[in-house]
Parts: sequence; C-alpha cells; structure tokens
Amino acid sequence: MTLDAQHFKDLLLKEAGVLETELASIGRKNPDQKGDWEAVGTDLDEDNADEFDVADDLEQFENNKAELNELEIQLNNVKNAIKKIEDGKYGLCEVCGKPIELDRLEANPSAKTDKEHMNG
Ligand SMILES: [Zn+2]
Repeated sequence: MTLDAQHFKDLLLKEAGVLETELASIGRKNPDQKGDWEAVGTDLDEDNADEFDVADDLEQFENNKAELNELEIQLNNVKNAIKKIEDGKYGLCEVCGKPIELDRLEANPSAKTDKEHMNG
C-alpha cells in the first residue's frame, strides 16, 4: 500500500473542521444527543414582530434545517473515513474492495467507492 494515510487524515481533519464551523453558523449541537446538530432560527422577538417577519424567520429556519442535514451527512462521511484510517482500512471501495484511485481520494478524501462504483 503506497497510500499516504497521514496526508489524507490531515485533509479529512481539515474538512471536518470546515464542516463543523459551517454547522455551528446555522445550528447548535444537540445537548441530548452526542454528534447530533439541530437548526436554530434567527433571534426574532416574536411578540414584536409582524407576520411577514415571522414567515421569513420560519423560511430561514427550514432552509437552515435542510442545509444542516446535508452538512451533517458530509461530516459523518468524513468521520467514517478518519475511523477507517485509524483501523487501517482506508481507501478501499465499499462495493468491490479494491483500492480507490489516488486522484479520486485527493479530490474527495471521504470517497467510499472507486471510480467504477462511484455512481451506485
Ligand atoms: Zn469498486
């Protein structure tokens, strides 16, 4: 195996940091469930807001929730990849078990499949 695991671990840790920063900007960590994030709305004072502000706030909240889910999935992928590095199983296609092309890992360090199986 010529794969430079430390190099990819650095990339993955950096990606995880970016994702967590993005998550923290639109949500907060769920105190009741480790590793779970929940969306937060804007700091709207509902008693003094008119109905349009409330609708805007709700829309913003729904957008945040959708984006948060997306980021959470990406972060989980990155964390799984880091775990695989620690287990010595990093860089293998989850479909066929062959090594994933290095240029593919370079472009997407949390890739789970090789080029042959990347679309399914
Ligand atoms: Zn494969």
